[in-house]
Amino acid sequence: MLGGMSWESSALYYRIVNEEARRRLGRSGSAPSILWTVDFSEVERLQVAGAWDAAGELLADAARRVEAAGAEVLVLCTNTMHKVAPAIEAAIGIPLLHIADVTAAAIAADGRRTVGLLATRYTMEQDFYRDHLRERFGIDVLVPGPADREELHRIIFEELALGIFTDASRERCGSMVDELLGRGAEGVVLGCTEVELLVPADADDRLYPSARLHAIAAVDAAMDPPTTPPDRAGERAT
Ligand code: GLU
Repeated sequence: MLGGMSWESSALYYRIVNEEARRRLGRSGSAPSILWTVDFSEVERLQVAGAWDAAGELLADAARRVEAAGAEVLVLCTNTMHKVAPAIEAAIGIPLLHIADVTAAAIAADGRRTVGLLATRYTMEQDFYRDHLRERFGIDVLVPGPADREELHRIIFEELALGIFTDASRERCGSMVDELLGRGAEGVVLGCTEVELLVPADADDRLYPSARLHAIAAVDAAMDPPTTPPDRAGERAT
């Protein structure tokens, strides 16, 4: 896992992959894994400067280290930085499990073709993510209006990435979800890995929590072929 963007969501990935491994392996099962954390302040500075090539080099270097540490599949724990996925993929010999592929597969499995997107302004406004869903999966993406995009970006960088979670921001994000559904979205992608820390996704199957979907897909990829679920009766006996 290449994380730190921000570490608040990387911690979520770490928890989910290990909970999922325990669920599949039973008892003390956990996920053999490497979590490399970059300094997000450096990544954020490069994003603001539009220095995407430099950001790609920084993450490619980190990805090489994760591979050298023994990873067999790479999980980039952010949607936004998939903008530089090609630079990362070119630097490593292991597969990158692309977050948009995983999210799109879940949307397609539900038979949905139009989704809303809550994400950073980079992800909502630039082409790399929306085009990926449209061109590879035939999924159309709706984004909030300019004022909501601005506010959501602020919430992500000034609150969620700093570990600040408020009811006001949760309500504001909830209104954005409702507005997107009202405009014809059949579901809404929580396309920033911190947003699902604020907006609970488990009770609403119209929401697609990107970090959760990505982390579970990582366990799927690492445990291929899937292991047989443990015998629960055997667990109790130990
Ligand atoms: N974690 C966020 C995402 O999924 C935003 C942080 C970043 O810019 O990488 O896009």
